Amino acid sequence: QQRVTVIGAGLAGSEAAWQLAKRGIQVDLYEMRPVRQTPAHHTDQFAELVCSNSLRANGLQNAVGVLKEEMRTLDSLILKAADTASVPAGGALAVDRHEFAGFITEKLKNHENVTVHTEELKEIPEGIVIVASGPLTSPDLSASLKAFTGEDYLYFYDAAAPILDGDTIDREKVYLKSRYDKGEAAYLNCPMTEEEFDVFYEELVKAEVVPLKEFEKEIYFEGCMPFEVMAERGKKTLLFGPMKPVGLEDPKTGKRPYAVVQLRQDNSAGTLYNLVGFQTHLKWGEQKRIIRLIPGLENADIVRYGVMHRNTFINSPSLLKPTYQARTRDTLFFAGQMTGVEGYVESAASGLLAGINAAKMIAGEELVVLPRETMLGSMAHYITTADGKHFQPMNANFGLVPSLEDAPKKMKKQERYERYANRALDTIQQFKDL
Ligand code: FAD
Repeated sequence: QQRVTVIGAGLAGSEAAWQLAKRGIQVDLYEMRPVRQTPAHHTDQFAELVCSNSLRANGLQNAVGVLKEEMRTLDSLILKAADTASVPAGGALAVDRHEFAGFITEKLKNHENVTVHTEELKEIPEGIVIVASGPLTSPDLSASLKAFTGEDYLYFYDAAAPILDGDTIDREKVYLKSRYDKGEAAYLNCPMTEEEFDVFYEELVKAEVVPLKEFEKEIYFEGCMPFEVMAERGKKTLLFGPMKPVGLEDPKTGKRPYAVVQLRQDNSAGTLYNLVGFQTHLKWGEQKRIIRLIPGLENADIVRYGVMHRNTFINSPSLLKPTYQARTRDTLFFAGQMTGVEGYVESAASGLLAGINAAKMIAGEELVVLPRETMLGSMAHYITTADGKHFQPMNANFGLVPSLEDAPKKMKKQERYERYANRALDTIQQFKDL
């Protein structure tokens, strides 16, 4: 029988190995720790949580809560471990990190179908392979990945701007226009008066940032300057940078605003928008406060906060199919943060699908692409169809799922989310015996 090589026993690789092993497939699971550590891991345990011990919201009013429930339906090892090792955390699913990782390590090391290799894999091997080496993939393997993807399709830093739920933008205040009316009008523009800019600026320079980790300091030298750092360089810097108003006269008045924040459509359905040039590492609460000072965004919901951190990931829109297979090599799957999903749960979720699909390949069955109504399906859809030129990693969020067909125009957000959740969980039931 054919075997599967899984590279990395993190959140994604552990889940993928489990999905394969429980289907009777022999897995070679390569994990380099503790022989070689990453700059963020500290133990030799599989699925080590490198930072927070929270797997975020558990309730179904929240997209990541729905994603967890879908994963429970598909017998996720990561969710089983989390539910077993949970600690009180209000509406969130937080875990005792040692118990959590210990449970996963034990299950995989003792599984008759899993052979663990404690070594660094430096090249992508032949055969059926799942690359799940994470945001801190070792340098040698990164070089091999770069050779496979091409220079321009593997990234080492994630310098991302916040992404907003399009339904929460005040369309009365913003206007559609491209700079100098070049090409099709593609941006939503939030115009600011001088007084509004002053308030925004004063609050921004006081806002709190997340300190960069020692191993992340080089990000600045990569030319990804956060907008709060631009602001520190002087009041005019933003006006000559991402908030430049030239060529963006407001069609309602014919006048050029003092400053403009541009929003770029982020998915093909037009339900998500990102703030152009606003990569940031402000604390999350501060991002919300500062962004809501922008005209038109007073009630905007951020579905994905801006971040700046080390993150090895590939340009999935150009490279992957929604089965998590490489477009140019069917036997090569990618999973985890590496694919441009963001977060512990999302990483495990992509490992779950990659594992199921590698097992299907060996069984000679058709590979699965889950419907977009599910969070699992919507994430696979997003990373493989997003705009490749501006690709940013993404959390699970309800902006990724198709709108409700029969919903009245004005529907309370909570009600809309509840219907998304029910639809997702009904849909995933049809796939529980995958
Ligand atoms: P990982 O869990 O990192 O697993 C990859 C594994 O591959 C590691 O065990 C690594 O040792 C191994 N490996 C790497 N190269 C090789 C090789 N060549 N051969 C063999 N093994 C190899 N997400 C959250 O939801 N909450 C957070 O608080 C959070 N904090 C983060 C903090 C940092 C510093 C970073 C970098 C990321 C953080 N993330 C967080 C994002 C992300 O969700 C996690 O990094 C998550 O662990 C990603 O899962 P993964 O399976 O893709 O990678």
